[in-house]
Parts: sequence; C-alpha cells; structure tokens
Amino acid sequence: MLGQMQPQALLISSLITHAERHHASSEIVSRRVEGDIHRSSWAQISRRSRQVANAIDRLGLSRGERLATLAWNGYRHLELYFGVSGSGRVLHTLNPRLHPEQLAWIINHAQDQALCFDLTFLPLVQAVAAKCPTVRHWIALCDAERLPADSGIAALQSYEAWIGAHASDYHWPDLDENAAAGMCYTSGTTGNPKAALYSHRSTLLHAYAAALPDSLNLSARDSVLPVVPMFHVNAWGIPYSAAAVGCKLVFPGPALDGKSIYELLQSEQVSMAAGVPTVWQMLLNHMQAGGLKFSSLKRTVIGGSACPPAMIEAFSQRYGVAVLHAWGMTEMSPLGTVCALKNAQLALPPEQQSQVLLKQGRAVFGVDMKIVDPDGRDLPWDGQSCGDLLVRGPWVIASYFKDEGGDPLRRDADGRGWFATGDVATIDAEGYMQITDRSKDVIKSGGEWISSIDVENIAMAHPAVALAACIGIKHPKWDERPIIVVVKKPGAELGRDELLAFYQGKIAKWQIPDDALFVDAIPIGATGKMQKMKLRQQLQDYRLPQWVGQ
Ligand code: AMP
Repeated sequence: MLGQMQPQALLISSLITHAERHHASSEIVSRRVEGDIHRSSWAQISRRSRQVANAIDRLGLSRGERLATLAWNGYRHLELYFGVSGSGRVLHTLNPRLHPEQLAWIINHAQDQALCFDLTFLPLVQAVAAKCPTVRHWIALCDAERLPADSGIAALQSYEAWIGAHASDYHWPDLDENAAAGMCYTSGTTGNPKAALYSHRSTLLHAYAAALPDSLNLSARDSVLPVVPMFHVNAWGIPYSAAAVGCKLVFPGPALDGKSIYELLQSEQVSMAAGVPTVWQMLLNHMQAGGLKFSSLKRTVIGGSACPPAMIEAFSQRYGVAVLHAWGMTEMSPLGTVCALKNAQLALPPEQQSQVLLKQGRAVFGVDMKIVDPDGRDLPWDGQSCGDLLVRGPWVIASYFKDEGGDPLRRDADGRGWFATGDVATIDAEGYMQITDRSKDVIKSGGEWISSIDVENIAMAHPAVALAACIGIKHPKWDERPIIVVVKKPGAELGRDELLAFYQGKIAKWQIPDDALFVDAIPIGATGKMQKMKLRQQLQDYRLPQWVGQ
C-alpha cells in the first residue's frame, strides 16, 4: 500500500518561491567587484532570478544544458543559482583559481553553452575564450555602462542589459526532482578533474540537513556570511539553506582579507560565518593586531581542511565564538560531518571537550559512514582503529559526470555501494569521526587542490629528470604545500632554482612547488608505484625553506 501524501517534487525553484513569499524583506548584502556595498532582498533576488530564467529561455538553452559562472560571492551569482537550475538548466560553477589551460579543459569537458563572469575575471576569459568552442554566449556580470568596449570577446553583453530585457513573470517548470541542477568539478581525485552532478532532490535534502541545529543551525534570525566561495561546492550549500530558512545573507565579493571580512561581520551584524582555516587565520591576525572584538558573531563553520587547535581556542576563548568543525567533499554536496557536542561531551572537563572539538564530527542525518581495513572489513568505532572512510547517502555521488573514472563505489556484502572518500579516519564510540591521513595523493593548499600528477608530469618533462614525486608538506598558513622530490638522470646537471623556474607558466603560480629536493632513489612498491607514504616518512624531519627554525 502506498502512502497518500502529495507527490510533490523537491525542486530548487521552490526554495526561491518560499524565500520570496515568507522572507521578502530579508536582506542580501554584497560587496561588489565595483567596490561598493549593494543591498538587495529575497524578493528582489526572486524577481531577478525569474528574469534570468526568461533570458536563458531566449538564448535557447535546452533542459540539462550547462551555464557556467566565473564569479565571486554576490547577489548576481545568487540570482543565477536559482534562475539557471530553476528553469531546468545546470549551473556549472567554475573555479577561477585554476590555470587557464585547466579551466579551458573543464569548460570543454562540461560542454558549457554560456558563461557569466565577474569583470575581475575578464583576463581569464580572454585567455580561454578561443579554446572554448561550445560557449556561445558570454555575459559580464555588470551593468551596460561598465561593459568593456574592446574586450575581444564576441558578442559580449552585460548581465543587467541581458536580464533587463526580460519580464519578471515566469512559470517555474515542473521538473523531475532527480534532474541535474548543478555541477562542480574537483581536482581532488587521481587523473583529470571530475564533476559531481547534483540533482534538485539531492540539493534540497542537503539544504534541510545543513540547516539543522547540530549542523549549521540556521534560522530566519541569522545573518550569514559565507566566505567559502560559491564556486566551492555551492558555498557548502548555504545559499539553498538560507533560502529555506529566509536568513539574511552577506556576500564578501572579492575582498577576502581580514580587514574587509571583519568590517562586513561588524557592519552587517553577522551571526554565523563559514570558511576554510586559511581565511579565518587572516581574520584572527587582523583582530589581534588591532585589539578588536566581535559584536554579533556567535559561530563559525570551519572546514575544507583540518582546523588547527589554536584556531578553535582563539575563536572560543578569546572571542566567545563557537567553532563548528565540519568535514565534507565536493562529491558529498559537501556536508558529511559537523562537530557539535552532545550532553555527554558537555559534561566533560574543558581539556577533554577540546579534544572532541578537534575532531571532524558526527554524521549529519542522511549520511551513513564507516571505516574499513585494506580488505574492506568493517573496523570498530573505538577511536583508535584507523581505516578508509566510506560514505553513502542521497547527496553523495553515485558516479562522476560522463562516468569518468568508472564506478567510484565499493560494494559491501549486502550489495550497497559506498563512496571511498580517500580520507583515512577513526570513529569513536560516540560517533565522532577524526581524519588521521589521506590515501589519495592530491595536496590541499589553502583549501584548493594541487594535483601531484600534474606537478610530477612537468618535472618529468625536464630532460635532466629520471623520476619525480610530488608530496605535501605541513605548512602553518596553507595547511600543506607541495614539494617535488627528484632523481636526476645519470650525469645530468640540474639545480633547485632551475627546476622550479621550469614550472613558470605551466601551472597556476600557487601550484608551483615550494622546494625541489634531489635524492638518489624514490621508494617503489611491488606493483611499481611510488610509495609516497614511505617517502613522506623519510622526509618527516624536512622543513620548508621559509619555515626552518620555526
Ligand atoms: P573538496 O572536495 O575540495 O571539498 O575536498 C574534500 C577533501 O578535503 C576531503 O576529502 C578531505 O581530504 C579534505 N577535508 C575537508 N574538510 C576537512 C576537515 N575538516 N579536516 C580535514 N580534511 C578535510
């Protein structure tokens, strides 16, 4: 017998419709690329997202076709979130920190049909435009007066003129809730970047879960500042949860330095902010230097990389701000765990509480997780046993876009598919997960991935290099930085500076290794693969040049 409830599809358009009807005047505040502060509301975002939908209809994009963005956090980007997905197209958020070659590769792989970009990124667009034949429409996120006259981009139009030509009444289509709504590429895997393809359903379920009290605890009374970019897994899903609860949103635009973030937190009376540890470090440095205090901030969500103990302590003890340490992945929309205390932990002495708060936290309802040994056998939740972390749930990928990389799931004895995160973790008896290592080779620097393969391939292209291994080294500001470890060809001459200079122009500047080490041999395993865990152990006393003695 079936239940007799209304079979209403879970659609992204319902979020913006709800926000407009119930939270029309709730503010959306953005620091713009133009430098000023712009004030909007859920009512205006909703109206303009319907204009976006009409404008895309006029462009002739079919259902499921991709519209890409290269944009900071701001109101126009938010309008595209709802206008693109709500009208049945797929919003593809591009990461502007990538090298133009990587970006062009991703745009071509996704077959993006249109691209909307902030003017900051015009040079990047000019570098890739000729290499992206699928993109038929280029739209600059500005008004007509600011549109550059001689951009060299064919038929470039301004966003304001583009949507301004269209009506704001629009009937959101009744879509299949499993239809694709958004797409985000990750370089956190082996080989080429791969895309997670989110559905309306996965996005809505994630929006509910992220808003829960032991998740981000969002309500209509909050003023929320996502420093985490809207091109990083949809700013951790905050725009969708914010529409569901009707909170105020505050967007920092391109100004991510400590001073600018502090000013916004204060002037907009922000109660909750979210970002990676590197950004919070800049904020804390700024506050300490100026002897500043927060007047409204109650909690910060910190994730993307492990949150250092000193940061949790500074926020909570010096400033009275609760830190919610969270873990997730692009492949998980991204929320997996959040570290909120239960009554049992609240009763612990402060030092023991701090130990718990360092962990990545408990699974959010909807996410199932386990740790397994190398043979796939379940490991106990004893806080000691360390194993590969596997996850499943309705907002976890089943496969990558175009099935790149084959089936990413591991089947258990019951035939259920689990996504292998590439993280190694413990889980304690209370369900608190702690990341202890990473089995994937990629390196995460300041919250952004660096492909060790790309770094190695460039070194291998140098005529003096016989073998090269790229590994991550702990760094106090960026969490990890890459170094390249090289075996030279017999008799070949090559120095550190020459090898590092060889990287110029081949990858993004921040992806260039911080150091090059020359060794006689790199450990190789039985299958002929480089054993990077062993190499990392061999180099455990190594310090990056600028941190020697610190
Ligand atoms: P991304 O797909 O770029 O969001 O990266 C996901 C990966 O970042 C995870 O698989 C982890 O390796 C790492 N990560 C995310 N959050 C944390 C955290 N709180 N602590 C440690 N590593 C994290």
